[in-house]
Amino acid sequence: MKNTLIIGGGIAGSSLAIQLMKRGVGVTLLDRGKNHSSAVASGMVNPMVFRRMNLSWRVDEMLPYARDFYLELEDTLKAKFYDTLRIRRFFSSEQERGYWEKKQHEVEYQKYLTLHYDFDEKVPLAKNEFGSGIVKKAFWIRSKRFMEKMHLFLKEQKVLQYGQFEPAKFILEELSYDGSIYDSIVFCCGSDNDKIPYFNQANIQHNRGQILHIESSELSQHELWNRKGFILPVGEEKFMLGATYEWNEPSLNITAQAREKLEEVFQTITEASYEVHGQTVGMRPTVADRRPVMGEHPEHRGLFIFNGLGTKGYMLAPLLSLEMAQYMTEGIALHKEVAFSRFYK
Ligand SMILES: Cc1cc2nc3c(=O)[nH]c(=O)nc-3n(C[C@H](O)[C@H](O)[C@H](O)COP(=O)(O)OP(=O)(O)OC[C@H]3O[C@@H](n4cnc5c(N)ncnc54)[C@H](O)[C@@H]3O)c2cc1C
Repeated sequence: MKNTLIIGGGIAGSSLAIQLMKRGVGVTLLDRGKNHSSAVASGMVNPMVFRRMNLSWRVDEMLPYARDFYLELEDTLKAKFYDTLRIRRFFSSEQERGYWEKKQHEVEYQKYLTLHYDFDEKVPLAKNEFGSGIVKKAFWIRSKRFMEKMHLFLKEQKVLQYGQFEPAKFILEELSYDGSIYDSIVFCCGSDNDKIPYFNQANIQHNRGQILHIESSELSQHELWNRKGFILPVGEEKFMLGATYEWNEPSLNITAQAREKLEEVFQTITEASYEVHGQTVGMRPTVADRRPVMGEHPEHRGLFIFNGLGTKGYMLAPLLSLEMAQYMTEGIALHKEVAFSRFYK
């Protein structure tokens, strides 16, 4: 494979560009220049899925690879955006606490979970009736800075071009776009996948998320607090309070209901005082079975998709972009759960 056109420069498309460039493939990355997911995400890489109280999919492979990927990129992009993160989960009931106690002794959970009995009484201002547990090995990426630096680098490398993919400039039969012929074209359009005619079967849904940006001198600056939502310290007494999950809401409007809901979340976690300084909104590209979508189109050879990163783009994109690049350049099979062919009967 000599040259690839990637449409969409969020974390999926940008990571894939990096992986293909490392393999000597000539890459052109076309991005609209407006990002509503990767650049607004809170950027946490959490080994747990709290909603279901289980480990994140393929966490033992995804998490260490992602950490090394971002640390290496800090050198390449000459910027700092990686921080370790200690996550404190306040339990909502005795039952949840019991469940956690049991889980933390299971082999696969041991390295990610602990209980902190002594410390529990000392967590100031927290509503801590049922105790709390700590998640280990988490980290977070300052997503806005990361995406800005990534784009700057890809622009300097003459890989990134800003512009909208225009179907009128595309000739499917010869895989040409705007007069240039490619070996492959990969669509990484996030929640705008429904505007691309070739991969509609994946039915990527719009899962809108909103975050409040708050300031407080009373909250812990050293750990994230979580119960029904999260309070993430981002430095200088500033925090992200998030996030909502609003299904099939395609508009990117900030809403008063979301603010109300997030403030309620805050009050279930802590009595600390705070001020709201802003509110942001974004869209998670999510598939019904909660697995990414990757692979080649069964009818149109040379057309690929890499999408559906859902709520976990920062955890999944690094290793999945490597696997996508290996699939495209060496024919190494993709993980069976991500195949686009699962939608194509
Ligand atoms: C509020 C919120 C909080 C989140 N928090 C976290 C978190 O803590 N941890 C985590 O791992 N994940 C989090 N996520 C999820 C994460 O943001 C997504 O999984 C990830 O960003 C998806 O990346 P993507 O590259 O697939 O999509 P996107 O980032 O949406 O990128 C798609 C790109 O394609 C471009 N594009 C689309 N159509 C075209 C076209 N026709 N022509 C040219 N360009 C086009 C767009 O401009 C965009 O830049 C959060 C998301 C939200 C909304």
